[in-house]
Amino acid sequence: MSDPEGPARVDQVPALAPKASEPEAPWVEVAVSLPLRQTFTYRGPHGRRLPLGSQVAVPFGPRVITGFVVGHPEAAPEVVKDVVDVLDDDSLLEPDVLALCKWAAGYYLSALGEVLKTALPQGQRASSRRGVRLSPEGERMAHELKPAAEQTASAPASLASLLLDDADKALLLRLGKAGSLGLRSLQRDNKIGAARVERLLRDGLLEVGDEVTERQRGPQERFATAVGKPVTVQKALSRAQAQRTLWSKLQASAELGVAVETLTPAERTALRALVGRGFARVEARAGGSNPQPIPAPAAVALPVLNRPQQQAFDTLVAAVGKGFSPFLLQGITGSGKTEVYLRVIAEARGAGLGALVLVPEIALTPQLASRFRARFGDDVAVLHSALPPAERLRAWRRLKTGQVGIALGARSAVFAPVQKLGVVVVDEEHDPSFKQDEGVRYHGRDMALVRARQANAVVVLGSATPSLESFHNVSQGKYGLLTLPVRAAPGAAERPLPQVEIIDLRKFRVGNDGLLSKPLADAIAATVAAGEQVILFLNRRGFSTVVLCRACGHVVRCPDCDVSMTYHRGAAKVVCHYCGRNQAPPQRCSSCHQSALEHLGIGTEQVEAVVRARFPEARVVRLDRDTAGPPGRKDGPSQGLEAILAQVHARQVDILVGTQMVTKGHDFPGVTLVGVLQPDQGMHLPDFRAAERTFQLLEQVAGRAGRADRPGRVLVQTYNPRHAAIVALMTHDYEGFAKQELAHRQLTGFPPFLRLVAVRVDGPDAALVQKVAADAAARARAAGGADVRILGPAEAPIPRLRGRVRWQVWLAGAGRTSLVSAAEAAAGVTLSGDVRLAVDVDPQSVL
Ligand code: ADP
Ligand code: ZN
Repeated sequence: MSDPEGPARVDQVPALAPKASEPEAPWVEVAVSLPLRQTFTYRGPHGRRLPLGSQVAVPFGPRVITGFVVGHPEAAPEVVKDVVDVLDDDSLLEPDVLALCKWAAGYYLSALGEVLKTALPQGQRASSRRGVRLSPEGERMAHELKPAAEQTASAPASLASLLLDDADKALLLRLGKAGSLGLRSLQRDNKIGAARVERLLRDGLLEVGDEVTERQRGPQERFATAVGKPVTVQKALSRAQAQRTLWSKLQASAELGVAVETLTPAERTALRALVGRGFARVEARAGGSNPQPIPAPAAVALPVLNRPQQQAFDTLVAAVGKGFSPFLLQGITGSGKTEVYLRVIAEARGAGLGALVLVPEIALTPQLASRFRARFGDDVAVLHSALPPAERLRAWRRLKTGQVGIALGARSAVFAPVQKLGVVVVDEEHDPSFKQDEGVRYHGRDMALVRARQANAVVVLGSATPSLESFHNVSQGKYGLLTLPVRAAPGAAERPLPQVEIIDLRKFRVGNDGLLSKPLADAIAATVAAGEQVILFLNRRGFSTVVLCRACGHVVRCPDCDVSMTYHRGAAKVVCHYCGRNQAPPQRCSSCHQSALEHLGIGTEQVEAVVRARFPEARVVRLDRDTAGPPGRKDGPSQGLEAILAQVHARQVDILVGTQMVTKGHDFPGVTLVGVLQPDQGMHLPDFRAAERTFQLLEQVAGRAGRADRPGRVLVQTYNPRHAAIVALMTHDYEGFAKQELAHRQLTGFPPFLRLVAVRVDGPDAALVQKVAADAAARARAAGGADVRILGPAEAPIPRLRGRVRWQVWLAGAGRTSLVSAAEAAAGVTLSGDVRLAVDVDPQSVL
């Protein structure tokens, strides 16, 4: 993308001394919000120094676009343009976060402006769009087109208006009303289309201009206050208990009111009724202060650390405040890693230092968040992905001002403005969800390490099954190693890990239900009879994963993706698990029109049905994305994650059936049996990490068994009892597995011994996509030289997704420099016809 009119590149600019008349260099370095890797210099507003991270509107070629201030250069090129507008100057960007973003832009080969957009919470970002409006000529025409009744004087239709078709006319009228509409959305609108817009622009009826939407000035919150006199209200509401209770609650907080966000769904319903009756008022006010502080945690008796915990704690505390030092905390499931994090963070807080805690998916582990809340109360900001933007912004402000010292969240929390960062924790550091798989494809764990380095903080990567990358870094001396080899229990007692037994399905066979072998069925029956709980793990949701025609072999596929659709019986739908498309299940084969459709492949919904039929006395609950969503979702009998977890805790459930959601760090004391149904499919994915991921998942789910007084058992049904992941699971031998797998990776040339970059190309037109992928591969080959191995171009394992054909080129190399040259060369390929290219550094997914 060259732009002869645009400002000069900062790094190509000759150094000039600032003019004597100006006390401070008036220039700002701006990362514009375009996919451009370089930054540009502008002249800032007179006499004001814009803080780093401020958002500005700047001229760029013929356009005005938004950007972030990322530097204050001492020198500027001879010709610099002025910043057009300052959109905000109370940035939430910390200097160490800006440094982190710069690092990420370089490392992930992304535009700094895009990284900053990812880093800042929504509502904090300004954006610009190209808007379409009527030209003066267009206005005249629109006026003429108005129905006669609305016209001031009836004028004869002009010749020009006769040349417009109905859709043209409709568009002019719409613009006349709306003032302006986004160019992109008009071009994409099927009824309008790019060609029409272009023609009307050419005819001089429309104009295009840039419009900048400012970010929210401050978080607005809605507060509810009570209206009316107690006597009147109590009387009027004598039969509406819920409303009466809420009214009293509102009245108790007088003028301050109660933040609507803090109300339960039931209270919100009552609030709507109160507002309707005129007994309550809701108004938006600037937030920023927490009107209802969370009470300081009650002093709880902390468990006495066992000896390995104490050692880990001592080592970490000794390192806090003494510069960057990374550690791997390898602790078996239930060994008390979280307790160590909590203690170390408490020490850091005591010393006035802040803490950042990253977890894979915060929604899946509400227990962890509540443990942090119980320990730190108001001092922790839980950055839930479901937080409304205003709440999120408020949490950021409180971190930025130092009101709150601990941030807990998923990968994007790595950008949170924690002050005086002293400790960074990455829990379950092996989890693949730390990698962002679109936009800026960063890895949350790796970013956390860089952030800690910028901030001179201690970083703890915790896991029972560390990623092979981290394990390797320990053996290279890059990280210190702390191990917790025993399960924690009160009174420094130790609990054993569960015993793992393999059920070889080649010998045992599953029963008539196609699912449960006799040993597993017997174990379930015995566990339930003993009043203990069972977890059954199968990593596929839905009822059956393939709908096949027995007559002709046709499989029901998603029209937009090259994958078979999954049958969901409860929702009576077939669903594409990749794009979400769903439709009524076909009655007949769409190919041969016979009604011979058969269901193959078992999902959790079917497991639930089988288990219910087989153990009619047992209380069975299913946990997967269909049941865990917010209540009332269309595609399943959703109950809500927290409700399900609470039921299991309260022992209201005998058998919990689920996908990998059941493997996460839950601590259910009553679970003594874990059954693994079909791990085989995961082992055979076309992914060099397939064995590692299988082992991690199995060890995690096994870790749910026997966490309290009663010992646990794990039964694994498999056709591959000799698979490395299964063999290692039997003795919980992480180290043996890791060493063997690393040797294999070294031999075959995969990470952590080589670096990988995936170049992903997709588009609607197969031939074009293939050509771009081939060009990209050729360019990478030419630029990478002998040091870089180029694999492909090849069709992706899922060759089509959401109507876009997908190809990949993989680059592998030991040295970063030549690999980057090759990747940049590939990314420089000319794109046409809606083909997109994405560079994925350190890819985690092969799909
Ligand atoms: P991990 O994070 O390694 O899975 P947790 O920190 O969740 O382990 O600890 C597992 C269980 O053991 C929790 O219920 C926790 O409260 C308890 N626990 C942790 N450390 C101790 C200890 N030193 N003494 C007694 N109980 C402990
Ligand atoms: Zn699909």
